[in-house]
Amino acid sequence: MDLEVPVLYPTQPKAVRLMNTVWADRTSVHDSLETLAHLQLWAVRAGIGDGQVDESDLDVARELRDALRRLAADATHDDRRGAVSADIDPQAALAVTNRFLADCTPVLRHEAGQGYSRVWRSGDASSFRQELAVLALEGADLLTGQGLRACGGPGCVLYFARSHSRREWCSAECGNRARVARHYQRKRDGDLQLEKGTP
Ligand SMILES: [Zn+2]
Repeated sequence: MDLEVPVLYPTQPKAVRLMNTVWADRTSVHDSLETLAHLQLWAVRAGIGDGQVDESDLDVARELRDALRRLAADATHDDRRGAVSADIDPQAALAVTNRFLADCTPVLRHEAGQGYSRVWRSGDASSFRQELAVLALEGADLLTGQGLRACGGPGCVLYFARSHSRREWCSAECGNRARVARHYQRKRDGDLQLEKGTP
């Protein structure tokens, strides 16, 4: 099987990278978490967990991904075709995300000879599940801040955390495609006006 699991924008927060496991090229929208093999590859490439994942982790990762994407769509007033899932509404997405956040209670532990360490309450979960819970917390912070954006590139379905306030696109490529699209749109509008005989 040819797995398409690009690591999109490794400098973006992990919560954004999870959202962006739904991505699009010129032909269609892709899902980098389609199968367990996809998840294994993605988790290793994204540096999440220790590479040990099973089918139940796949369900859980997809559930959080879909919830965060739905909330991101809501927070960014996203109306891009192909980007917003109709399978989950914002209320349900909020409930899912809050379930993950409930695992983010910090706990102080003491081990003889090791001293104190601050861990998450979900300490018995696999490292992948723990990272997902922390990733939900990161997602919650992004949603409550001002920095999360839906990319305005033609056909793009990605989100990104803005490094500066004027950034409109997830990448230089999307920026270039948007500029080219605007250029042709202006040209078409100009041609139309000429046809109508207006200056
Ligand atoms: Zn983009």
